[in-house]
Order: sequence, then structure tokens, then C-alpha cells
Amino acid sequence: MELACLDLEGVLVPEIWIAFAEETGIDALKATTRDIPDYDVLMRQRLRILDEHGFTLPQIQQTISRLKPLEGAREFIDWLRERFQVVILSDTFYEFAAPLMQQLGYPTLLCHRLETDEAGRITGYRLRQRDPKRQSVRAFQLLNYRVIAAGDSYNDTTMLAQAEAGVLFHAPANVIAEFGQFPAVQTFADLKREFLKASERNLKL
Ligand SMILES: [Mg+2]
Repeated sequence: MELACLDLEGVLVPEIWIAFAEETGIDALKATTRDIPDYDVLMRQRLRILDEHGFTLPQIQQTISRLKPLEGAREFIDWLRERFQVVILSDTFYEFAAPLMQQLGYPTLLCHRLETDEAGRITGYRLRQRDPKRQSVRAFQLLNYRVIAAGDSYNDTTMLAQAEAGVLFHAPANVIAEFGQFPAVQTFADLKREFLKASERNLKL
């Protein structure tokens, strides 16, 4: 039994916080885990900035609903789902991802949750668990699934290492250089080939 685990942002959809920062012109929201490695520090900073500008969750969801999946992402995920059980493992929040998941045909998504008050203000967030992507892969392996995983950034590398096969997709040069043990590809056509190579079944393009 083989399972495909995919990162979401940077792989299938644009970086949500960066897109939101660009649309609103708030540069301080462009910081990612590459700038601030501690995710809790980063998230507290993001929520403080949202508060300063008075942004509520429905307003942010409006912006996100104008985002589109990356070119070719929908076709890729449809292709993948014909050949593998597919699970998206993401560090985003269900409340952010919803409009994008609709455009991807609602694949299974494991991520985190935001907490809001009656006025829609984001008051906090709940991470599902520590090291969630790797823990998910571990759990699937305990269910006797063989996992092939793809992601683009630092927060994917423990997932790629835990999986039977890990692939870097759309990764920046520094990540590719630091994690040379994983094959690195940049197009969905090449990513399909990596999944076929990593599979133990005789699958066709
Ligand atoms: Mg990513």
C-alpha cells in the first residue's frame, strides 16, 4: 500500500502569508520560517500585525479566496489521486486553506486550527502536534503504508526523511544544497516521474 504525502504552500498553492502581505501591502507579514525559525515566535508576530491593522479572519479569507492554485497543480493532484491515496500535510490552518482546497477538489488535508472571537479577530492558534508532518508519516507507516512525500522547504525535511522516499519540489537553492540526499525537481512533469520511480508498483505516466 502506497500513500503520497504532499506539502501545500509552495507545492500546490502560493505561500498564503506572502500573498496576503502583497495584496495588503504589509511587508512585515512576508516573514516566513526562513526568517524566524521558531514557528511560535513567527505566529505571534503575525497575529500582532493583523491586530494592529484590524484584520479579521473573514477579511483574510476574502483575500485568500482570490488566490489560485499554482499552474498545473490541479491536474497534478488529479493524476496523483488516480495512482495513490493522497494526503496533504501542511503547517497552514483549515480556516485559511478552505477556499484553495475547493479549487483542488478537496483532497484530505491535515493541518492546524485558528482560534477566533465573535468579532472574527484571530485570538490564537492550535498546532495539531509537534513535528506534525513527520508524525503523520510515522502514523501512516504504522498502518502499513509505504509513504512517498514531496515538499519545498525546511518544515518538510523531517517528513521527507521519515518517508520511504522524499522529493524536494520547487525548493530554493539553499534547501537543495543542504539536503542533497533528496532528489530535487522543479516541474510537475518531473515530480510525476519521481513518484513513479519511488513507487514499488509498475505505474505509468
Ligand atoms: Mg511549503
